[in-house]
Amino acid sequence: STAPTPTPAAAQGARTGPRIIAVGSGKGGVGKSTLSTNLAVAMARQGRKVGLVDADIYGPSQPRLLANEGQRPEAQGNKLVPVPSPWGVPLLSMGHLVPPGQAIAWRGPMAGKALGQLIDAEWGDVTDLIVDLPPGTGDVQLSMLQSHKPAGAVIVSTPQDLALMDAMRAIGLFEQAGVPIVGLVENMAGYICPHCGEESDPFGIGGAEAAAKAMGHAFLGRIPLQMSIRVDSDGGRPPAAGEGPVADAFASIARRLST
Ligand code: ADP
Repeated sequence: STAPTPTPAAAQGARTGPRIIAVGSGKGGVGKSTLSTNLAVAMARQGRKVGLVDADIYGPSQPRLLANEGQRPEAQGNKLVPVPSPWGVPLLSMGHLVPPGQAIAWRGPMAGKALGQLIDAEWGDVTDLIVDLPPGTGDVQLSMLQSHKPAGAVIVSTPQDLALMDAMRAIGLFEQAGVPIVGLVENMAGYICPHCGEESDPFGIGGAEAAAKAMGHAFLGRIPLQMSIRVDSDGGRPPAAGEGPVADAFASIARRLST
């Protein structure tokens, strides 16, 4: 019999615990939270033990998206226990700790500390942790890169130039910290009219793929701008848990995260 091979993380003396995959974006409103939820749900459907951390400390939306709003995590010793969701993805979010409607106005160090509590939690047998970062390149991102270095980062952008320029800045931040870019996802690419079925491109199409290519990064796939994505997401029914082209698109991106 052969001796067990040490995991690369253990071999390097790095942190133990689940592998962290950060989902980042240059700006807000491009679908970073939506992508995080649906990647986690798609990975769980593919048989992986995956958890989700809502690091969007100032605007947590994951409890709504994963349909476990209003629950509070319990503590085990000095660690939080993630809150289960109906979609097989346990979640920790500031939204579970701070009552809805209450403003979260912390300075950077406190926000960084809060994030640490969400990540260093009782994750049990979870092997992959998707972390939904706040948009941009601020304190929370920096603190995460310093003390909870992700194994990789997925960057989401809409196809238009402005969003892409911001996305490139976010990519730069990860690269400087030595975090590998898993690839780019283009969201809101192509709109299918629910009435006539005609496809149009309100934000253009192909921009993120071209940018990925130009920067030497992988393009992981595109998600269309589709009303049902917003409606189902707001209703706590992640589209990745359903059937059809949108669920397939999330599944295909999730498979790219499996290695
Ligand atoms: P971010 O996390 O980048 O701020 P969100 O994921 O919260 O962005 O998305 C912003 C809004 O856009 C939400 O209401 C969400 O439901 C909606 N949305 C995101 N992606 C899509 C899409 N592909 N089609 C339709 N609506 C979307």
